[in-house]
Amino acid sequence: MKENITDRSWVEIDLSTFRSNLRILKDYLRPGQSFLQIVKADAYGHGAKEIAEIALAEGAKYLGVANAEEGKLLRIQNIQAPILILSPSLISEIPKLLKYKLTPSVSDADFASALSQKAQAAGVSCDVHLKLDTGMHRSGIYIAEAMAFYQAVAALQALHIEGIFSHFASAESDPEFSHQQESALADFIHALAQPPRYVHIANSAGLINAYGSFCNLVRWGICSYGVNISTGNIGVQPVMTFKSTLSQIKPINPGDTVGYEREWTAAHAGRYGIIPVGYADGYDFLLSNRAVVLIRGSLCPVIGRISMDMITVDLSKLPQAELTDEVILLGEGHEEIRVERLAGLYHGSAYELLCQVGRRAKRYYRSQDRVLHSTPLARRDFVSSDFGDSKLNQIITSALTQRLDSEEIGELIYREILRTFFYNKDRNVHYRKNFQHEISFATADNPMYYVAKTRLRYQKILDKDTFIVACASSNESLRAYFMRPDVEYRWLLDARLLHIEDSFFVDSVRINDIDLQTQCKNLASCQEILCFHPKLKKLVGQEVAYEINTTTLYPTAAHQFSVFISELTRGVKISFSYPPELGQVEPVSIFSGQQKNPQITQRPGKIQLKSQADEWVFPLSGVVFSY
Ligand SMILES: *Cc1c(COP(=O)(O)O)cnc(C)c1O
Repeated sequence: MKENITDRSWVEIDLSTFRSNLRILKDYLRPGQSFLQIVKADAYGHGAKEIAEIALAEGAKYLGVANAEEGKLLRIQNIQAPILILSPSLISEIPKLLKYKLTPSVSDADFASALSQKAQAAGVSCDVHLKLDTGMHRSGIYIAEAMAFYQAVAALQALHIEGIFSHFASAESDPEFSHQQESALADFIHALAQPPRYVHIANSAGLINAYGSFCNLVRWGICSYGVNISTGNIGVQPVMTFKSTLSQIKPINPGDTVGYEREWTAAHAGRYGIIPVGYADGYDFLLSNRAVVLIRGSLCPVIGRISMDMITVDLSKLPQAELTDEVILLGEGHEEIRVERLAGLYHGSAYELLCQVGRRAKRYYRSQDRVLHSTPLARRDFVSSDFGDSKLNQIITSALTQRLDSEEIGELIYREILRTFFYNKDRNVHYRKNFQHEISFATADNPMYYVAKTRLRYQKILDKDTFIVACASSNESLRAYFMRPDVEYRWLLDARLLHIEDSFFVDSVRINDIDLQTQCKNLASCQEILCFHPKLKKLVGQEVAYEINTTTLYPTAAHQFSVFISELTRGVKISFSYPPELGQVEPVSIFSGQQKNPQITQRPGKIQLKSQADEWVFPLSGVVFSY
């Protein structure tokens, strides 16, 4: 395994071990009981998504997390199973709970009514689990008040009591108190006319010690990660192994001291090694002078104080140790480096040590000896909404640069192609479908111009109930119209035509079957035609068919006519019909996107360019007809 790893320290998560631990635990379930996999705190440092996927495949009915944010992260990573929020939620978290369909634990009347109100306003119903305090004196409603609370929540319109639960204070060590707690919950449930779908109280220790047998759900965490509870070894194995490398080996003389405050003194001549992890990596400071690490199958004592970024180990009894040897700091390989053993050395918590260990390390997921994939240092998956716009743009550019292995090209793609989409941060990027643009020229009374009729049709999601058709008579004003998302169609008029209003006409604008009303506004060197209709309000957000017909004039002396595609478009057809006076017409297409060469058909008086109906054509594409 080590050959492929270049990190200074890393964490290996053995998913096949996790799966076999689940099988051991499932043997403790009673008939009719299922399990909720606890994946809070990123699954005790193991990676919530990976752990959740396996637990669900092994039959978990529910997942448990600490707060709405952890639940959201799982949803974003496409986990669809029910998710219980174990800690009390804040009123400010309600929108997130509803949006991501998370199940809150409820033990407060104000919270419950706020939740019901917001759910009702959103037109949804929200599952909740009531949390009862049966003696732990942490979150939960006291048993004495629980029945009134139950009835109050049951009366709330938009809430559905899917579960009722409690939590043991001391399931590992106090059978008497635990029995009192389970009886309190059992009595409460028996007093109900109808129990909810889920009733639960046991954590890992509760399950192993056979408490809560009247419940139909068990919430387990620690044992599934391979940590035995203090009262019994049930044969689970560590899922996480934290490893590093011997980075330096040095001799030491009798009487020399090692590290800060000189807490360790060499009794005789020997060798010691430096390992590049410290308390900043989650290797607890309290392990100073107490822990052991595993090198080549031998236990080597940690000597001196743990530093922020380094620890020192005694190699005197391991003469064969060499630079770059793999060092196992915690996990599988030896009983002495199991997390419960290490945490026990300083009367600490195995839960805490698992959550903190490997804080700087990359996680490698494996199944037996095969590496499946790895995730980076940050203990959090990338969620784009965590970042502001400018930071997000920076991330997109750097991801492109990395992927293409070229700063120049990454920059270019971002600037030239993507920036058009992101120009306005709240601009909705909707694409046009079945874009059909028909232009026909005819001779006019005035020999300096052709009469140009244009018909534009496409389908797109309607963003707003009004939009603009714009006619510009200078390149500058045309350019400004290209930047405006409310403009659906633009035309550049010959600057010599003094009165725009006599030279550019919108014949009709239609959305589906609705003939829109129009209102012209004349500006210095442009004209804006506002298109609107009272019926459009109802269509906002839906895909509609646009049709825009115009009649205008085009100078005969121009000798070329261009059509631009200004938005992301799927399926393009452009046709140009013209009188014989134009002579020979050459189409030059500049299409960017999937299809660079549209199909061109040409017959006397008409040219047509066409892409396949499902092919993307990018903005900045177009065609020039020259004559
Ligand atoms: C963390 C937690 C658990 C899991 O406990 P383990 O001892 O890890 O099995 C169960 N229930 C609740 C409410 C928790 O917060």
